[in-house]
Amino acid sequence: MIHRPLSRIVVLAGGVGGSRFVRGVAPLAAPGRTTVIINTGDDDQFHGLQVSPDADTILYVLAGLADTRRGWGRRGESFRTLGALRTLGNQTWFQLGDLDLATHIDRTARRLAGEPLSAIIATHARALGISTRLLPMTDAPVRTRIRTARGELAFQEWLVRERARPKVLSIRYVGCRKADPAPGVLDAIAAADVILLAPSNPFVSLGPILAVRGVRRALRAARAPIVAISPLIGGRSVRGPADRMMRALGVPCGPAGLAALFSDLLDGIVVDDCDLASARRGLPANVAITATNLLMTSPARSREVADVALQLAHSLARPEGERP
Ligand code: GDP
Ligand code: CA
Repeated sequence: MIHRPLSRIVVLAGGVGGSRFVRGVAPLAAPGRTTVIINTGDDDQFHGLQVSPDADTILYVLAGLADTRRGWGRRGESFRTLGALRTLGNQTWFQLGDLDLATHIDRTARRLAGEPLSAIIATHARALGISTRLLPMTDAPVRTRIRTARGELAFQEWLVRERARPKVLSIRYVGCRKADPAPGVLDAIAAADVILLAPSNPFVSLGPILAVRGVRRALRAARAPIVAISPLIGGRSVRGPADRMMRALGVPCGPAGLAALFSDLLDGIVVDDCDLASARRGLPANVAITATNLLMTSPARSREVADVALQLAHSLARPEGERP
């Protein structure tokens, strides 16, 4: 079923939660009507190769190539090249599979030839048969860095090498002040009928996107209602460190804390059924709330969650031309 065929949908997304949600939105929208603005704050370099983890997760999931159980990389992957790199004395804590390396080699070669990341992601999406428009938040380098008691770490060092163990003291997005949005990002936000914040990590997935020059302002000025989907179920993240980050940074770990981070943006929020009562107690009256089972363990569940989010957003749409 196509939801509202002419709706232009914009989704802000990170990797795992982002892709699980986007795979539900894409089939409900008409082809070419969905734009995903993807976090690139986790990007880095390993073995001289440009790594863009969230973009690749979304590419692989939408192309049906992802290892959805592991949550990253490709299905049927092997890691022989990594073993050979280790033999040559390289550090291989950041895992890159043999098939995944093809994406990385191609991205790096194109970058070295001068292509911006946005063009490369568009090429990869086309090559993999994806009709959803995928945009990186920016073509400029933005790097999320995590300050811990043991010093400041690059995001992948903290998450993968240190297994997210060092307590987070603060987070910064190096380069964000000089980063312009990638071509198409601001136009997509302005033209959107619906804007959705995927159930992605608010600090290291949505945070960097909102920190890119002009993005937050464009969202505040947008005509479209903005609806967030919670990455938390019963005060815990489904996967990854979002819950521990919230506690470490003094943000209440539930719908109210989440809404507070986006209080200047949100018109509505979708929470899990088990969080409805606390959301009703803790959220400001101007944020509409709806609840459903937020666990997206299958494509069908992703579609159900996307459907609920789109229904809420459409119910909040302002009449044409009317601005708050
Ligand atoms: P990352 O870049 O791979 O960390 O991915 P995201 O930032 O997009 O997503 C991480 C968040 O996704 C975590 O906070 C998870 O709680 C959330 N998440 C993962 N799977 C699900 C799910 O099935 N339902 C919901 N509601 N959240 C999910
Ligand atoms: Ca990520």
